Amino acid sequence: MSRHSATATSAHRLVRAALAAIAGYAPGEQPQSGDWIKLNTNENPYAPSPAVAAAVSTALQGRSLAKYPDPLASRFRERAAALHGVDPDWILCGNGSDDILTILVRSFVAEGEWLRMAYPSYILYRTLAQLQGAHCDEHHFRPDWSLDDGFAAPLTASGDPLRLAILANPNSPSGTCLPPQRVADLAARLPCPLVVDEAYGDFAATNCIDLVRHDERVIVTRSLSKSYALAGIRFGYAVAQPPVVEQLVKMKDSYNCDALAIAAATAAIDDQTWLESNRAAILATRARLTAAMRSAGFRVVDSEANFVWCTHPSRPVRPVYEALKARRILVRCMDYPGWGDGLRVTVGTDAEIDAFLACLRTL
Ligand SMILES: *Cc1c(COP(=O)(O)O)cnc(C)c1O
Repeated sequence: MSRHSATATSAHRLVRAALAAIAGYAPGEQPQSGDWIKLNTNENPYAPSPAVAAAVSTALQGRSLAKYPDPLASRFRERAAALHGVDPDWILCGNGSDDILTILVRSFVAEGEWLRMAYPSYILYRTLAQLQGAHCDEHHFRPDWSLDDGFAAPLTASGDPLRLAILANPNSPSGTCLPPQRVADLAARLPCPLVVDEAYGDFAATNCIDLVRHDERVIVTRSLSKSYALAGIRFGYAVAQPPVVEQLVKMKDSYNCDALAIAAATAAIDDQTWLESNRAAILATRARLTAAMRSAGFRVVDSEANFVWCTHPSRPVRPVYEALKARRILVRCMDYPGWGDGLRVTVGTDAEIDAFLACLRTL
């Protein structure tokens, strides 16, 4: 350790100032032992479609892994395109939708320029701006999680032009979803492209894919991590008009999706029957969890995602998080400066939610 310490202390002077200056994105806790009830990072609690294991096993045969994967993941693109009613050149695949978000920020926002996000939302957007040496304009949601027209203001508060806006819809941590008509309205007012991050889109009643058809400045991103139960595989994609995709392709790594991920994601998206029944199970448990948290005295806003955001009208929630953690139940405790704290609880299996609620009752 000490042999390397001289290098470690000066490393911050070797890297770009924008990198040295930031803490970096802190992902949720991922304990690597199995005996936790994990309700903190919005993973799907069920196994993915059995078609996934079969496809991965086929992709492992013979010499397939010796070759580079398809740079554009064409097989997946065709299936996703058919699902969304567009042509394959409207789809851009990535190593998780975080990879897509990185590509988007790097493509639209240069050093010193401005990105706008709604707040509180997915903090990675801010980190991506910081990594780019860019600035992040955070526009607050109203207390009811709607967005006023200020989100679409042409300039930042400092009078600078805007290069990109990002909206998680459904949003995290709230689980709330702006209606597509409102998103279209904001997109039309904005002076720059709007990314609609639909990582939780499959759990919602509406989505914004149609807007992409009518406005080349709207880009929708999707993830296979949550609704297809493939967080361990890393696959996401964007839906955008073909001339936009053509630009974005230049920014991505040549082989940003590996062969096993492409095989898994293609099998998963092909099994829409699995998606439908999984969604039905999650939505039923979500309704039960929401009702139980409300009777336990929490404020819970109606969620269109696979988690619920619980605040307490009179008490801090961190002690609840700590007490649950001591009993090996992990939820996400979030404290947004200027907004307040809350618990974001992932919709697990019925058994997991029962254990969580039973533990909560003892506190
Ligand atoms: C989980 C999440 C993502 C990242 O999804 P991956 O495909 O696993 O990279 C993106 N956006 C939001 C809002 C998320 O919650």
